[in-house]
Amino acid sequence: MNRAEMYRRLRGHGSRWDMIVVGGGATGVGVAIDAATRGYDVLLLEQSDFGKGTSSRSTKLVHGGVRYLEQGNLSLVMEALQERGLLLENAPHLVSNLGFVVPSYDWWESPFYGVGLKLYNLLAGKYGFGPSRILSREETLEHLPTIRQEGLRGGVIYYDGQFDDARLLIHLVTTAFEQGATLLNYARVTGLTKDGEGFVDGVRFTDGETGEPFEEHAKVVINATGAFTDALRRAADPSAEPMIAASQGIHLVFEASFLEGQSAIMVPHTSDGRVMFAIPWHGHAVVGTTDTPVAEPAMEPVALEQEIEFILQTASLYLAKKPTRGDVLSVFAGIRPLVRSGEAGNTAALSRGHTIRIEKSGMVTICGGKWTTYRRMAEDCVDQAATLARLPESPCVTSHLNVHGFHAASRKFGHLSVYGSDAPLVRQLEESDPALADRLDAALPYTGAQVVWAVREEMARTLEDVLARRTRALFLNAQATLRMAPRAVQLMAGEMGRDTEWQAEQLRSFRQIAQNYLVTWHHPETLAGTPANAPAPEKI
Ligand SMILES: Cc1cc2nc3c(=O)[nH]c(=O)nc-3n(C[C@H](O)[C@H](O)[C@H](O)COP(=O)(O)OP(=O)(O)OC[C@H]3O[C@@H](n4cnc5c(N)ncnc54)[C@H](O)[C@@H]3O)c2cc1C
Repeated sequence: MNRAEMYRRLRGHGSRWDMIVVGGGATGVGVAIDAATRGYDVLLLEQSDFGKGTSSRSTKLVHGGVRYLEQGNLSLVMEALQERGLLLENAPHLVSNLGFVVPSYDWWESPFYGVGLKLYNLLAGKYGFGPSRILSREETLEHLPTIRQEGLRGGVIYYDGQFDDARLLIHLVTTAFEQGATLLNYARVTGLTKDGEGFVDGVRFTDGETGEPFEEHAKVVINATGAFTDALRRAADPSAEPMIAASQGIHLVFEASFLEGQSAIMVPHTSDGRVMFAIPWHGHAVVGTTDTPVAEPAMEPVALEQEIEFILQTASLYLAKKPTRGDVLSVFAGIRPLVRSGEAGNTAALSRGHTIRIEKSGMVTICGGKWTTYRRMAEDCVDQAATLARLPESPCVTSHLNVHGFHAASRKFGHLSVYGSDAPLVRQLEESDPALADRLDAALPYTGAQVVWAVREEMARTLEDVLARRTRALFLNAQATLRMAPRAVQLMAGEMGRDTEWQAEQLRSFRQIAQNYLVTWHHPETLAGTPANAPAPEKI
């Protein structure tokens, strides 16, 4: 899969597309797969890299959502639990079963959560990941050796899924490509075209690398732009009322020693009434998340000081070794594209279910939902879009469609397990040239072969694509990633035939982005709402 082949498909495509999808996150790429497997011809356009938006910034859970159970939203939980099961079946190289322990420090907690979590597993039916169980204090410590022991009474264990979001996304892009779809990253939609009756019938977009403008037409245009949904809706109809309430969530990443063992911690009620997770991921501990309403979504959201402090304080209540700012290896923020229900107030209470809207302009908008339910969202959306565009009827086939890389035992590939059936090919690259087998930095497992693979086979175009999403280096350890950057960009330039000027520009822009992942300094009087990496105030 590469850009040249995508352009060959685009330029060779004479007539109107059946569908054009705007947005290359989980939602848009899911729609592209669904449409392509039904036999519709589909073009997907992403303004930045695939997954640059929210879809690489999640908590990495494939879950039914224990929290929605508490809100009494059983149908949402059941649907998500079914999708969780299907995703494990279809992408076992990227999704795994993980034990989550709800620790109890009060006598009533274990029986209370024990009942709810029994129901959670019952609702999964044949897609269950394992029965929940009340744990004694000793058993809790076996699962979570580094939990705070003071006052600990026991816990409840339940099972849910975990995944690598950006890796799944790139394998979904590959799946869509293999099914005949055309997908372009760095292709920003700048406007919509309309037919004589005023209905949207196409898009204008610009190639972000060459600046070349394009105009493409389709029987139906689908808006899957996540947090940016309202901007495209307004392009279609300037009077469109906003439907998205954006809410930011952040995660802090620490060394694995903060969370030893193979289980995660789930805190059902933080002091602000949210759920917090501490999960083992790629040899590190990821802790999050927050829920902070934001006025305008940003492409590169930045963690706020108050969010960092909140996570540190909450984590300190549950971890024996209290994490400090100095322990944070990476911090990442993401924007939830929640659908407004009347007045937006507390975003934690807004609907996590998805919404499909046929706009007055004839454009189809899909938003909300969650990563776990991307397949189901796509099915619903293509059903609607195909009817609207009067496409020949064709049933959805994705519930049992293997995702690219499908491999039932990919753990045996060690640090290459996330490549699934591609792992032996990446290993061949390492073996073909010993220099490619070297780690790019001692702190992380990534090798030069992974950089080369990302460029050749996974449409990585920038240093950030390689270090943030094809590998997850930036999300795991920002300082180590900055050390890896010069070697990685050299390898990319060799593959892409780029000069030293390009390399210097890539390094400059990557270093700037990486600042957002560092918790660099702390001023005791920092105001709530100040980005964590804002320049230090000048000394008087
Ligand atoms: C902090 C956090 C934690 C989460 N954790 C989980 C979890 O553990 N499990 C779970 O199931 N869900 C989770 N979610 C929800 C899940 O991540 C999102 O629902 C999902 O990623 C949304 O995908 P999307 O494709 O709709 O949006 P996005 O991934 O944001 O994709 C939209 C894309 O549209 C592109 N775009 C915008 N405008 C244009 C344009 N004009 N032209 C071309 N492209 C454009 C953007 O660049 C972007 O890439 C979490 C969300 C957050 C914020």
